[in-house]
Amino acid sequence: MSLENSSVSESLAAETEIFRVRLARMMKLVRPPVEHACIHCGSIAVTRDAWAEWHVGDQVWALAETFDFAFCHECHRETKLVERPA
Ligand SMILES: [Zn+2]
Repeated sequence: MSLENSSVSESLAAETEIFRVRLARMMKLVRPPVEHACIHCGSIAVTRDAWAEWHVGDQVWALAETFDFAFCHECHRETKLVERPA
């Protein structure tokens, strides 16, 4: 291996290590998954009122806004939601 190639290899190894350390730091910052449950019965069969906007480029309805109104499909009534670890 030439001196130049050796230098490039060392540089790549150093950059890879820096990337690995940064990735490990970022993974600790990632929020653990949660679920939203009915405050009355604990079911996760819940929905919220929302607006969807038509996205011409993707040809899909995309979530544009969510509102506070929540409904439990177990209790069959309006509810409040509680967030908990999934
Ligand atoms: Zn419920």
